[in-house]
Amino acid sequence: MSPRLNLIVLGKQGAGKGTQSTVLSEKYGIPHVSTGDMLRNAVKVENELGKKVASILEAGELVSDDIVNQLVEERFKQPDAQHGVLLDGFPRTIGQAEALEAMLGDDGIKLCINLDVPIELVTERLSSRRVCQECGTTYKDTDIEAISGTCSNCGGDVIQRTDDYPEAIRTRLENYERDTEPLLSFYASRGLLVTVDGDQSPEDVTNEIMRVVHERGLA
Ligand code: AMP
Repeated sequence: MSPRLNLIVLGKQGAGKGTQSTVLSEKYGIPHVSTGDMLRNAVKVENELGKKVASILEAGELVSDDIVNQLVEERFKQPDAQHGVLLDGFPRTIGQAEALEAMLGDDGIKLCINLDVPIELVTERLSSRRVCQECGTTYKDTDIEAISGTCSNCGGDVIQRTDDYPEAIRTRLENYERDTEPLLSFYASRGLLVTVDGDQSPEDVTNEIMRVVHERGLA
């Protein structure tokens, strides 16, 4: 059996994790596992989990490690995750990273890709971001879809995420610095960290990541 390709895409909110994860997941044939998407979906369908986490998401705070660890562990049991996963937005704390190591055992994380983007740029990207509530396509506030409020992909409503409001952006970036940035040394000490300049065109970022994955003999 071929080894599992387990990749993590790490970076500040607005660094382009979602965009890169979507492309890379398709290129490598591994599912894009976004804890943010899973939690937002739970809020949308108003299930038990959704009711528990709705106000946390809205404020831009972090959901507890126990909840997200359990979500991810369940996701790993799905048939499509057996050849690898592309993790976006998880892990976000050292506790989650340790839980992830316990979940994956020897066949663990192969690479952690850090998308490096300056704080001023991500703040600008997040405040101008608009998103389709139905299919998740993202737009800029100046795009016609954002102005008209209608997604050209699926016809869904294009809105501003409540956690992209200024106060929530501040909270999320502070949380990133406090809780998530320590993961850079966690993965660097394991020889798994590669930092890519996220302030380039999405295509250039993808090409750089794919070059590293290739150089390391991972795919
Ligand atoms: P994201 O789309 O990755 O920015 O996630 C949106 C929101 O979901 C975050 O602001 C958190 O409230 C929550 N969330 C997503 N992933 C995690 C995680 N790994 N740990 C804790 N909270 C998370």
